[in-house]
Amino acid sequence: MSAPGLVSLVSAGPGDPELITLRGLRALQEADAVLYDRLSAPELLAHCRRDAELVDVGKRPDGPGQDDITALLVKLALDGKRIVRLKGGDAFTFGRGAEEIDALAAEGIPFEVVPGVTAASGAGACCGMPLTVRGVSASLTLVTGHEDPTKDRVDVDWGALAKIHGTIVIYMGMSRLGEIAPALIEGGLSVDTPVAVVRRATTCEQILLHSTLGEVAEAVRRAGLSAPALIIIGEVTREERRRPWFEARPLFGRSIVVTRSRAQASSLVAGLRGLGALVHELPTIEIVPPDDLSPVNDALKCIDGYDMILFTSANAVDSVSGRLAALGLDSRCFKGLRIGAIGDATAAALGGMGLRADFVPGKGTSEGLLESLSTGEVSSKRILLPQAQDARQVLADGLRSMGAQVDVVVAYVSRPPESQALAGELAAGALVDGTVDMVTFTSSSTVTNLADLLGARGLGAASGVPAGAIGPVTAATARELGFTVVAEPEKPTVAALVESIEEHFLQTSERRGE
Ligand code: SAH
Repeated sequence: MSAPGLVSLVSAGPGDPELITLRGLRALQEADAVLYDRLSAPELLAHCRRDAELVDVGKRPDGPGQDDITALLVKLALDGKRIVRLKGGDAFTFGRGAEEIDALAAEGIPFEVVPGVTAASGAGACCGMPLTVRGVSASLTLVTGHEDPTKDRVDVDWGALAKIHGTIVIYMGMSRLGEIAPALIEGGLSVDTPVAVVRRATTCEQILLHSTLGEVAEAVRRAGLSAPALIIIGEVTREERRRPWFEARPLFGRSIVVTRSRAQASSLVAGLRGLGALVHELPTIEIVPPDDLSPVNDALKCIDGYDMILFTSANAVDSVSGRLAALGLDSRCFKGLRIGAIGDATAAALGGMGLRADFVPGKGTSEGLLESLSTGEVSSKRILLPQAQDARQVLADGLRSMGAQVDVVVAYVSRPPESQALAGELAAGALVDGTVDMVTFTSSSTVTNLADLLGARGLGAASGVPAGAIGPVTAATARELGFTVVAEPEKPTVAALVESIEEHFLQTSERRGE
């Protein structure tokens, strides 16, 4: 029998998918199996390996109980799997992490616990309310409002808590607020004690309600606020102490689907998240090596026979770089060659290989590159053009008509992904349901691949979602397939796209659901 696998009890953070720790992220990336529940952000699952087994162990009336979850953890670990048990917030704060660990320890299964951001820290930060303030509140009590439902005894001494006069944060207390608030008042807290209730803290759906101890139960009922929410009690929640930076961000409350390939999406995703948007990643492109590698390999092995190499995309650079490494070569083999690049991102990718492009045309298209070259520069020159399979031939044809000898080799294949991770499926569902505010396209193939992925019926529904497109060609494809393009930058760069999305939403003041 194989040795049992390591189980990492990973704290996922309170909702914002970026509030996991680096160690937690690494465990997630390495795991063979991931057990997650509803409090951890689904976007986190996008970090899992493609072949990882993902198990939803969220507690629902018909779902697995705590004993089933623990038994499954033990079984998978005994099969030798490397497991992540992903838990919302901090794993050891009202997370029943201890019970899971007891079971692992009893079986001699190795484990680690990765700490994280608990809901109270997340709520304090994202509501702009420090949980302790010098001279105002010198203590912080985290308390559950909902004890083990199988016990009818209530262990929390609310009267004693009322006498500490510090900040009290109640987890799982929403359904018992009608009993808890009077118990605290009876214990000595004033009916006017300020209270904040925060639902889905740290996410773009965060809702914050302010009230007083005397009125909070009724205020929550009237507002229709439900779990998961925290009740924060104490002077730290007073209005004059609040700095609402989080909700003031320009894309707060907006949810946006990004359709780029996962490997390429990071700058767009980071840009939108940085402005407060909830970003769903729906990869529509996957970059893979061609079936037949010999043409690109042969060309690179004889690279010194060429005068010039032209890169039309960052993918072409990455693919060539990967091929060179596989052949035991490196960028020194480009010595003496002229190097051209289309687009700043391509030039930047070359920079990553330690190479500087000799020319990058102002217009980031094949036509722009052709215009920038004189016949004298290319006539009778041998030019290597590593491209995507089925790429446009405009550049090769144009160069040939100027008298060049052009070898086009397929360096990579760009295709729709064979399968979607769960996060992608959720994003596709949200698009079709129209519960997102925008979908972004960064190339025509992101549009056409999305159409293939959703099918005609899904596309019909999804095309009601306003679109952002990186440039005119992409925007035209999106319009052809029925989308209304509301954000389209003048310059086709990711940074400009993010800016035009921000501008669009600044002009559209009402938010979804209002
Ligand atoms: N281990 C978790 C808590 C699990 S108990 C942590 O450390 O945060 C579940 C309760 O946590 C919910 O009922 C709610 O009270 C609180 N909670 C979790 N995430 C929250 C969020 N994003 N916003 C507000 N409350 C949250």
